[in-house]
Amino acid sequence: MMNRKPEVQLNPFIPYHFLHEQEPDSAGVVQEVNTIFLASKTCAFSCIFCDLWKSTLEQSPPKGAFLHQMDYALKRLPDAQVVKLYNNGNFFDVKTLSPDDYLDICRRLNRYERVIVENHPLLCGPICLRFQQQLAGQLEVAMGLETIHPGVLPRLGKQFNKADFCRAADFLLSHHIDVRVFVLLNPPYLTEPRESVYWTLESIRFAFAQGATCCAVIPTRATTAEMQRLAQQGDYQIPTLDMLEDVVEKALQDGYRRVFADTWDIAFMARCPHCFEARKQRLERMNLTQRLEARIHCAYCQTHA
Ligand code: SF4
Ligand SMILES: [Zn+2]
Repeated sequence: MMNRKPEVQLNPFIPYHFLHEQEPDSAGVVQEVNTIFLASKTCAFSCIFCDLWKSTLEQSPPKGAFLHQMDYALKRLPDAQVVKLYNNGNFFDVKTLSPDDYLDICRRLNRYERVIVENHPLLCGPICLRFQQQLAGQLEVAMGLETIHPGVLPRLGKQFNKADFCRAADFLLSHHIDVRVFVLLNPPYLTEPRESVYWTLESIRFAFAQGATCCAVIPTRATTAEMQRLAQQGDYQIPTLDMLEDVVEKALQDGYRRVFADTWDIAFMARCPHCFEARKQRLERMNLTQRLEARIHCAYCQTHA
């Protein structure tokens, strides 16, 4: 078991971050989205690529603390149709959040048309319905599929297999809960760029085939000692911006929609100061429009000359 002691001291009554963003819905209409990153107990899983545990709490926050955090953020955020409640772990882990808090949380969210939470496939069950029943809007559960590579998924510490993922997705969909999926670009043990892009695309295809309503592509990063160790021994390679562009372009070319490149904090992928910002902005526009744009030409790095 890896040592996953949070690296920052969070206040259990204040979310560690919140922001306003935009995202197209399934009809292509841009929705206003409020995203709240709740300070929450460290996730019970230990996925080797994960660095979310750094910004968590060692103990469960006291009863009512999540509500306090939500109030803090919602007071400062503009109107929106959608809210994401992300807790750097699993929303339906009862050791993290007591179901006794669901009713009050749902009441706070009554004005939202859609509520998105993140959750592990093994924790998707009747507990999700308990929350859904008290919610006015549409519930959507975001699950990390990460990769369907048969030799890689079992080594990531996710503790689920493809069948578990399918069961979770079926369960949610059969109860009218939408499914959002996270897939990784360059998980550990996939170090050859073309192969890695291929498997990210295969994972996207698989996610949509299981009924996902959208798919976010998350570039992995070496922000933990574990990932740095994997990089040193040749088992992990930092993804490049080209690879992220390849994945999104190919997915759009293949006709998939609502494929989002996660552009949060991707400065670590910058190789050229002349084109990075323009390329990032292009990906963000494509996230919004879901239309392919011509690649950015950069005479300086000649990436696409
Ligand atoms: S389940 Fe999610 S939050 Fe928990 S360790 Fe794995 S990736 Fe991180
Ligand atoms: Zn350049």
